[in-house]
Amino acid sequence: MKEACGVFGVFAPGRAVAQLTFDGIYALQHRGQESAGMAVSDGQTITVVKDMGLVATVFDERTLSGLHGHLAIGHTRYSTHGSSDWNNAQPAYRPVGRAGFALGHNGNLTETESLIKRAGMLPGMTASDSDVVASLLASEFSERGNEERAELAGAIEAVIPDLAGAFSFVLMDADHLYGVRDPHGFRPLCLGRLGAEDAPEGWVLASESPALDVIGAAFVRELSPGELVTIGAEGVSSRQLFDTDEVADRLCIFEFVYFARPDTRLHGVEVHGARRRMGELLARQAPVEADMVMAVPDSGVPAAEGYARASNIPYGQGLVKNRYIGRTFIDPDHQARMNAVRRKLNPLRDNIEGKRLVVVDDSIVRSTTVRSVVKMLREAGGAEVHLRISSPPFAWPCFYGIDTPRRSELLAANMSLEEIRRHLDVDSIAYISLENLKEAIGAPGVDFCDACLTGNYPVPVPVSFGDPEDDGAIGSAALQAALPGV
Ligand code: 5GP
Ligand code: SF4
Ligand code: MG
Repeated sequence: MKEACGVFGVFAPGRAVAQLTFDGIYALQHRGQESAGMAVSDGQTITVVKDMGLVATVFDERTLSGLHGHLAIGHTRYSTHGSSDWNNAQPAYRPVGRAGFALGHNGNLTETESLIKRAGMLPGMTASDSDVVASLLASEFSERGNEERAELAGAIEAVIPDLAGAFSFVLMDADHLYGVRDPHGFRPLCLGRLGAEDAPEGWVLASESPALDVIGAAFVRELSPGELVTIGAEGVSSRQLFDTDEVADRLCIFEFVYFARPDTRLHGVEVHGARRRMGELLARQAPVEADMVMAVPDSGVPAAEGYARASNIPYGQGLVKNRYIGRTFIDPDHQARMNAVRRKLNPLRDNIEGKRLVVVDDSIVRSTTVRSVVKMLREAGGAEVHLRISSPPFAWPCFYGIDTPRRSELLAANMSLEEIRRHLDVDSIAYISLENLKEAIGAPGVDFCDACLTGNYPVPVPVSFGDPEDDGAIGSAALQAALPGV
């Protein structure tokens, strides 16, 4: 399973925008570790630097000191659609208009094939949907070349409303920064301000609010689903790109479960608190007698803390995580994935031996992690293992920016709860209910995308679920009928 990308943008004349962008995308590193990049404009020229690797590998003092301007966008990528190679690193750049334009994309479009045709690209010419959008914008942009209003804005307003799927974009031309969210708001995007409220010194866009914190920007607000924000010397303006009946707030519920940083605020809720409450509610929903509550680090820690607090069972550490394993390449074969987990996690034997353990993690996808963990804990002398998962069973692939395996590889799509318990070799297992998950998040009246947990896809998806036999796109009702959930 791969996570969503991170996007960032800053318009701040007089500030070192390349350094600000570096700090911003560094704070968003968890959203993608495959490639990093930024585009910087000085009003005349847009310069793009991008490469495979982590933010701190791609950029150093020397690269940054050569990047001058008043406006920049940045990106961290974990490939979803499109293979992981240099050509797909972002920002994508097109030399159209006065200085060209650049874009960074977080999400995944659902109808790429028809877009490729429309963009006049040859199938196979590109593998990334973000690239297709860049090409669509480029042809629209050049057609407008002679018009008075030849900025990127016109092209954005013409192209983006026809896209389907998940997208949070940051875009820039020579003098403007743009941010746009798809009409369901699957992926987060927020606006921040540098300087005082009555004397702003610049404006910032970021996937998550900690990227604002680290550069000293104040959080202003989240962009609304379907909203386009335009930032330039004249200030900030906003417009809705989609019809009212197309707009529905469906932020990815997994941002709360796993993807977002714990210190991120979404819908006004701090993610760490939500995860702790997931653990508290899980303790009430599925109590058990035990000696110690432990987490699968790091993702399970806040929920384990909550479980311990609500159950009055002491919290302890049962596993140590090697922090220096930067990227564990997700290998296609099972044994290699098991080895990767084993290299990353090691048991604390004295803490485990003879104990009845409650083990908390945020999710089970293929089950590689928990299987490996349970094996380690048993070998280290754990007396009982009670698994508690702070998300409901993950039984449906995601088509909105998270690259999840085929349905056939998803554990919960193929086994009953008792089969899962036996397969994982645990004494008991419980997943938080969807109702409790939503209560733990605590954003009343807010709807989320929960398609990977329920099969209710807010935007039609290919029916093939990643299995090569069939294709075509049908809506969620038909999907449900065709493949009833578990
Ligand atoms: P599994 O090992 O069952 O296939 O995946 C579940 C584990 O991977 C959990 O520990 C969870 O924290 C983590 N995980 C869940 N979603 C993602 C993802 O999108 N990317 C990465 N790298 N890890 C994930
Ligand atoms: Fe998030 Fe799941 Fe919806 Fe994908 S399907 S956007 S992971 S809630
Ligand atoms: Mg994890």
